[in-house]
Amino acid sequence: MDKPILEIKNLVVEYRTEDGVVQALNGLDLTISPGETHGLVGETGAGKTTTGLGILKLIPDPPGVVVDGEIYLDGKNVQESNEKEMEGMRGYDVSMIFQDPMTSLNPVMTVEKQIAEVYELHENIKEAEALKKSHEILELVGIPAARGSEYPHQFSGGMKQRVVIAIALAGNPKLLIADEPTTALDVTIQAQVLDMMKHLKEEYNTAMLMITHDLGIVAEICDKVSVIYAGRIVEQGNLVDIFDNTRHPYTEGLFNSLPNLADRTQKLKPIKGLMPDPSDLPTGCPFHPRCDYAMDICSKEKPPRVFRTEEHYTECHLYNEANIKEGGVIKRD
Ligand code: SF4
Repeated sequence: MDKPILEIKNLVVEYRTEDGVVQALNGLDLTISPGETHGLVGETGAGKTTTGLGILKLIPDPPGVVVDGEIYLDGKNVQESNEKEMEGMRGYDVSMIFQDPMTSLNPVMTVEKQIAEVYELHENIKEAEALKKSHEILELVGIPAARGSEYPHQFSGGMKQRVVIAIALAGNPKLLIADEPTTALDVTIQAQVLDMMKHLKEEYNTAMLMITHDLGIVAEICDKVSVIYAGRIVEQGNLVDIFDNTRHPYTEGLFNSLPNLADRTQKLKPIKGLMPDPSDLPTGCPFHPRCDYAMDICSKEKPPRVFRTEEHYTECHLYNEANIKEGGVIKRD
C-alpha cells in the first residue's frame, strides 16, 4: 500500500472558552492515501472544519488546544512543526478551499496576479512566466485566460470558487481540503464545479478531503467516507460500504433524511433532536438521545469499534464481530 498522504491518530481538540470547554474532536482517526478522495460527512458542529484546520495547524489558539493525538502530513509531524515549516507545507503539501470564496480572495488584486503569486513563491519563477502559468490554470478551471485581468467582484459566485480552486491547485498540493466548497452556490453551478473538481482530481491525482453535509456530493466524487458525529468517526468505509452496507444508526438517519427522487411519495424522516451541546456531551454513545435503537448500555458505555471488513468499521453497541458481517442489524428502507 502507498504511504498515506494524511494520517490522523486519536486527535482530541478542545476550545476552552469562558462559557466552558467545547469538546470539538474526541479521538478522531483518519487516513488518506495518495489520489484518494475522502468524504468527511456530518451535521454542522460535528467537528468537520476543526479537522481541516487541525491538518493545516490553523486551529485558533487560544481558545483551541490540541489535547492529544498526532497528525502526519506526507510523513511530517504537524504538531511538531514550527510556523516556518508549516508555511512551507501549506500550499505545497496541503491547500484548503473554504465555503465562501471571498474569504480566500484579495478584493483589490486581479485574479491572474493572485494565482501568479503562488507560482512565483513556490516555483521561484519570474512574474511573466508566473502570469503565463496562471492563464493556463484559469483555462483549466473553465475561465477564459482573458478574464485574468479582472478583479474578484467582477466574477459570479461559481466563477470565484473556480478561481479559489485554481489558486489552491497552483501550488500542486498533495492534499486538497475542500470545506463545503459548493454550499454557497446554486444547484446548477454546484454540479459544474463538482464536475470540474472531479476532472482536476483525475488530471493531477491530488488526494482530497471533501468536507460536506451532503451525501449526494459524497456519492458523486468520493472513494471513501467517514461519518463524523460529536467529534468522532462513527462509521468509515468505501462508498459501497457506506451506501449499501450501512451499519451505524446515525449514517442511516442521514440517508433517511435525504429526498428519494425515485419515490416521491416517500416522506422525509429527519433525525430526531439536535446535535448535542459539545460543551456537555451525553455520556456513553453521544448519539443515544437521538437514536431509535438505543439500549441501556448506550448511555453508560462508549461503543467499541467493530470491523465488518478491513476498511469498514462502525462504533455502535448494536454490533459485535459476528453479527456485523451477517448483513447487519440495521436495514435501510
Ligand atoms: Fe444507537 Fe446505541 Fe448504537 Fe449509539 S451505540 S448508535 S445509541 S444503538
